[in-house]
Amino acid sequence: FIQFENVSKAFGTAKVVDALDLHVGQGEFVSLLGPSGSGKTTLLMMLAGFEAPTGGAIHVDGKRVERLPPYKRDMGVVFQNYALFPHMTVAENIAFPLKMRGVGKAEREARVTRALDLVQLGHLQDRKPAQLSGGQQQRIALSRSIVYEPKVVLMDEPLSALDKQLREHMQLEIRELHRKLGLTVIFVTHDQGEALTMSDRVAVLNRGKIEQLDTPSGLYDRPRTRFVAEFIGETN
Ligand code: ATP
Repeated sequence: FIQFENVSKAFGTAKVVDALDLHVGQGEFVSLLGPSGSGKTTLLMMLAGFEAPTGGAIHVDGKRVERLPPYKRDMGVVFQNYALFPHMTVAENIAFPLKMRGVGKAEREARVTRALDLVQLGHLQDRKPAQLSGGQQQRIALSRSIVYEPKVVLMDEPLSALDKQLREHMQLEIRELHRKLGLTVIFVTHDQGEALTMSDRVAVLNRGKIEQLDTPSGLYDRPRTRFVAEFIGETN
């Protein structure tokens, strides 16, 4: 469903993603796991359309996408620093991607209500982001990412600013949303535990290459390289 073929990205002379192949099936939940600087965010940015690859091809749902602008790629994004618009209410924030796509007012309102119900925050629709907790803000960002019913949702460390208890709760919520909506999710994290508990499969990245792409138990029981064994074995 999502296919990277021989994809590279260099910034100047630094090769950040190096001739990488990756295939993700429809409805799969795949995490990109790796140390800081291993290329996780860059990979996601190329999929979302915010960075162009230096070489290679990216296909999504049978279409070649690497030269398409972000708004033509039909993907929801939740980034750690992809903040809500502070001057808009919760409902206006969630309606924004629909407005951009020319969806009419009545349809917008119905979809915003549905998207807010999915994260159980309908009662907060008239608040401004500053009047919400960190967890609530992240849930609103999640709700905004699915409001136009994309097939694919990309998440870059969406939970790293939250405390442990809330993080674990949100991990379950994201899994539940993925299951209920049949979403294909690519989830970036540097947290081994988070990747292993949430994902169908995990791609372990090191210096712009995938060291191993496997199920959580496959990585744990049969690490293929020393790097994978050491990285998976580390506890946070
Ligand atoms: P982290 O967990 O710290 O976010 P990451 O695995 O997501 O790391 P990337 O953000 O993809 O890694 O960055 C990989 C490398 O590319 C880093 O060394 C980074 O400094 C470099 N890099 C990323 N974006 C740019 C850019 N726009 N210009 C120059 N170098 C960049």
